[in-house]
Amino acid sequence: MMNRIFIVDDDSLTCNLLKTIVKPIFENVETFQHPRAFLTLSLQKKDIIILDLMMPDMDGIEVIRHLAGQKSKASLILISGYDSGVLHSAETLAVSCGLNVISTFTKPINTESLSCFLTSQSNKLAQIERVSTNNDSARPGKFDFIPTEQDLRNAIENKQLILYYQPQVNMKTEALHGAEVLVRWLHPEFGLIFPDKFIALAEQTGLIEQLSEEVIHLAVKQSVHWQKLNRATRLSINISAQNITSLKLPEQLRMLVKEYEIDPSMIVLELTESALMDSEVTSLDIFTRFRLKGFQLSIDDFGTGYSSLSQLHKIPFTELKIDQSFVTNMKQEKESAAIVETCIMLAHKLNMEVVAEGIEDKATWDLLLTEGCDIAQGYYIARPMPAEQFDKWQFKR
Ligand code: C2E
Ligand code: MG
Ligand code: MG
Repeated sequence: MMNRIFIVDDDSLTCNLLKTIVKPIFENVETFQHPRAFLTLSLQKKDIIILDLMMPDMDGIEVIRHLAGQKSKASLILISGYDSGVLHSAETLAVSCGLNVISTFTKPINTESLSCFLTSQSNKLAQIERVSTNNDSARPGKFDFIPTEQDLRNAIENKQLILYYQPQVNMKTEALHGAEVLVRWLHPEFGLIFPDKFIALAEQTGLIEQLSEEVIHLAVKQSVHWQKLNRATRLSINISAQNITSLKLPEQLRMLVKEYEIDPSMIVLELTESALMDSEVTSLDIFTRFRLKGFQLSIDDFGTGYSSLSQLHKIPFTELKIDQSFVTNMKQEKESAAIVETCIMLAHKLNMEVVAEGIEDKATWDLLLTEGCDIAQGYYIARPMPAEQFDKWQFKR
């Protein structure tokens, strides 16, 4: 069945303009100047809605609320003549209500970029259609594998967890600075499974202790290997809140460092802001001891959590990682650019190094370099990869 596309905007001129852009790409297009009329339709998953936020009788936020109430699976494109901050808030709201927002555009609409976006969307939809109709040998359920606690326990015990390494480079010299360790689950049946599918489960079930133990062990072994080859690489390891409350972690790290004779300053522990929320006193104790033992401490996804500036002051972080959502948007959104700029300034004033993650293109790299960012990580530099591939990547540079 064909995709339907609905334009909801009170302004008839905008409706007509949008229709002219859409029509060559999606045949089946309808415009609505009154959102109430639009909301009487029964929407389907394949539908695309272009929704204006500012409308006199019912604004876009109300429409979003209605769509959320209907549990609509349709794709949503938000447009607004307001500043991009309003657009961004509306997008965040819609996403948190479970709606599928595929893009946002500020008015006046850049017709070329909208047209480009819709074309790529149309191609993507056509491809999905082909895969789902032709590929009947595809294993059902492959994409919705939801692991249970027992699955994950087995995975850890059967050594199915593997590590990928994503390079971090010094922005000024472009030399390798280190690598972030990112866990993957190599499932014998379902293939490579990403952490967003199992870290939360590990945290809820307490398996995060064993998981982190395994990750740290594998990372330290790799570190020793690289050190022997005279390619000592600083490794950043992600740590969850539960790892801190259990008190096992400092001890385990201390033993490993002793056993393998590695330099603790080559290990960076990455903590997210939400990890700092729980039991502040214990964590402060543990963090300070980490530093005393020589480990580096990094605050991950900075700007998305709940930490206050005073926590930043209390806990002896050596590095601040700006959340990728700000980095991704800084090119086209002045609010994100302002947040990035402020993070860099703040970190430097507090004697911390700044890492920008999620750099996907040269334009973003250039902006960050101008702002004085120290370290870069992202697909523009390299994707996360297994150790052997990391070696080849380094060799080829
Ligand atoms: P994170 O620590 O913020 O890691 C960065 C994530 O961004 C990684 O996703 C990485 O693959 C992805 N990324 C890197 N560069 C780019 C880019 O240019 N564009 C985009 N779109 N993404 C980029 P990944 O590997 O899926 O990991 C997701 C999260 O899972 C991590 O976020 C981290 O919080 C958690 N995680 C990963 N490994 C571990 C682990 O061993 N232990 C714990 N507790 N958490 C882990
Ligand atoms: Mg991280
Ligand atoms: Mg992050």
